[in-house]
Amino acid sequence: MRLTSIKLVGFKSFVDAVNVPFAGNMTAIVGPNGCGKSNIIDAVRWVMGESSAKTLRGESMTDVIFNGSTGRSPVGQASIELVFDNSDGTMGGAYAQYAEISVKRQVTRDSQSNYFFNGQKCRRRDISDLFLGTGLGPRSYAIIGQGMISRLVEARPEELRSTLEEAAGVSKYKERRRETENR
Ligand code: ATP
Ligand code: MG
Repeated sequence: MRLTSIKLVGFKSFVDAVNVPFAGNMTAIVGPNGCGKSNIIDAVRWVMGESSAKTLRGESMTDVIFNGSTGRSPVGQASIELVFDNSDGTMGGAYAQYAEISVKRQVTRDSQSNYFFNGQKCRRRDISDLFLGTGLGPRSYAIIGQGMISRLVEARPEELRSTLEEAAGVSKYKERRRETENR
């Protein structure tokens, strides 16, 4: 499974539609302080279902919507689309049939949040299910953000354990068990 592109519209500093392609096995995003590098990482977490505004370096969930700059008015909604190459079937089960998977999230100023799987509206749960056990996901170890290493070093045992469980691929089964027990 490989992330092949990110489309950002109205998200944080990306007011106009931008498509960031990831062509090879390594892509570096470079630029001066404040140009939006971390915003791209926030976008990846956000579309996978991150629901903590703090993790996204904001105060409320609508802080991800472009809120204006000198000469540009704020916009009414933000959307991010991630496109994955799934030709190796990493996203298994019902998803294995799709060689390409697109995941999109949209939010409006009135906090309406919508998720899409390959263009079809779906639930947030469908998106989190998709990533469970793949090593990806909003809090996954596949995304190592600024300051995360020191957070991990200082993590409480329970937090450290959940990171290890996701890495070992057992979080998926724990989630299923939790669901069954709650029925
Ligand atoms: P550094 O090298 O310092 O880590 P960076 O390239 O990671 O910088 P980011 O943190 O991604 O920079 O971008 C910060 C910029 O994004 C700031 O200029 C901030 O004003 C802008 N920004 C964040 N949220 C919004 C928003 N909702 N609307 C408009 N601009 C925003
Ligand atoms: Mg940064």
